[in-house]
Amino acid sequence: MPHADTANAARIFLTRTGIEPTLNRILVYSAMADSDQPLTAREILDKVLADHHINRVTVYRILDLLADSGAVNRIASVDGASRFCSRGGRWPAGHSHFHCTRCGEVRCVDNATLHLDETELGNALSMRVDNVDLRLDGICASCAEAARSDQAEKQPGQ
Ligand SMILES: [Zn+2]
Ligand SMILES: [Zn+2]
Repeated sequence: MPHADTANAARIFLTRTGIEPTLNRILVYSAMADSDQPLTAREILDKVLADHHINRVTVYRILDLLADSGAVNRIASVDGASRFCSRGGRWPAGHSHFHCTRCGEVRCVDNATLHLDETELGNALSMRVDNVDLRLDGICASCAEAARSDQAEKQPGQ
């Protein structure tokens, strides 16, 4: 079982999103709400399986329901595996995502680091901006590190 506070927060969030908070839905949602980073369906299944018996199809079906109702983000990645992150746990509803074009890693990014003024943006566009979810593409820290050591091996003595 997730921590009692996490389970309780999940129950409240799911209810508010219009989803009946069954035990399995709470378990699947909590696996994401707890996580710093988006997880693949496989990773979510493994997290839930650590404490509970649940079948794979049930997890996949719940992920579809949560994504379709806007409780979680479903993020397509270059490696072909969708990743999921919560919109009401560790990360707020509005946040952005960094995609590594080398390894396919996807990371959640706090919009505060993007220095965006949503009110100013809305005024400039004459639109009301309720949510900002930008896609950032680039090379993640570990791929950049790997590229640096490859470089170092090719140029010994430098
Ligand atoms: Zn990478
Ligand atoms: Zn995210």
